[in-house]
Amino acid sequence: MKLANKLAFITGGGRGIGRAIAIAFAREGAAIVVVARTRKEIEKVASEGTKFGRDSLAVECDVGKSASVTQAFEQTRAKFGRGPDIVVNNAGIAESELFVRSDEDMWIRHLSTNLGGTFRCTQAALPEMIERSWGRIINIASIAGKTGAPYISAYAASKHGVLGLTRSLALEVATQGITVNAICPGYVDTDMTSGAIEKIMAKTGKSSDDALEMIKRMSPQNRLITAEEVAALALLLASEEGRGINGQAINVDGGTVLF
Ligand code: NDP
Repeated sequence: MKLANKLAFITGGGRGIGRAIAIAFAREGAAIVVVARTRKEIEKVASEGTKFGRDSLAVECDVGKSASVTQAFEQTRAKFGRGPDIVVNNAGIAESELFVRSDEDMWIRHLSTNLGGTFRCTQAALPEMIERSWGRIINIASIAGKTGAPYISAYAASKHGVLGLTRSLALEVATQGITVNAICPGYVDTDMTSGAIEKIMAKTGKSSDDALEMIKRMSPQNRLITAEEVAALALLLASEEGRGINGQAINVDGGTVLF
């Protein structure tokens, strides 16, 4: 059991990548706190966690709001008597629009959820990790955190910000038993990518098969990444074996981005 006796707090744990990470962590012995806004989804994942014999908690929370994050950590501490050993900042949104047609609300939504959520949950968890001299912060960024593309200026800006936070914090806590890393997936087979396919269909008139092919061809492997592949890397970063990996932004994208 790679995560025996660990407590993991996973934002956006109700579906997609976050769900796969929550289940992979529970399978390896972690108690899981499954965090998102949709109660039905988080409860389902939390109950899947208990099937492995682990304790779990579903917490309704909007990571874009400070009070909501504070409350989520209060609920976690009330149930487990302590804060998490591992935080996975995975909750995220992705909307696409030309920059000239994007408005400030869209900008703020991306910054506040994708980057602000990472900031809030990390701040809430870190002091206790420092006290215990052990912690893992795993930020699910994107290859859009390393490179740009048309239509995603707000999303890419938020994910570039996540990498800046990851790298700087990693150096601040490097001697304290804590690692801070980012995972940068390419297109993953989740609802978020289904949304991108629908947008391509609406904009170009392509069929869903053609839109999917277009997305697959962005990867040299000509396929979508699975949520489980991302979870496998998150597990390595969370585990004891991963303790030397710090401040990294690791791509899981089939070779789309080579830096
Ligand atoms: P999904 O849309 O399938 O899931 C997103 C999760 O985040 C849901 O559980 C959602 O729950 C939660 N979430 C969204 N907004 C908030 C919020 N304000 N507060 C709390 N939870 C929130 O997306 P993926 O699983 O595909 O994506 C997960 C992460 O991976 C995101 O950060 C995304 O940017 C990143 N990523 C995804 C890629 C892809 O191709 N799918 C590629 C690269 C990176 P709810 O709506 O109920 O709150």
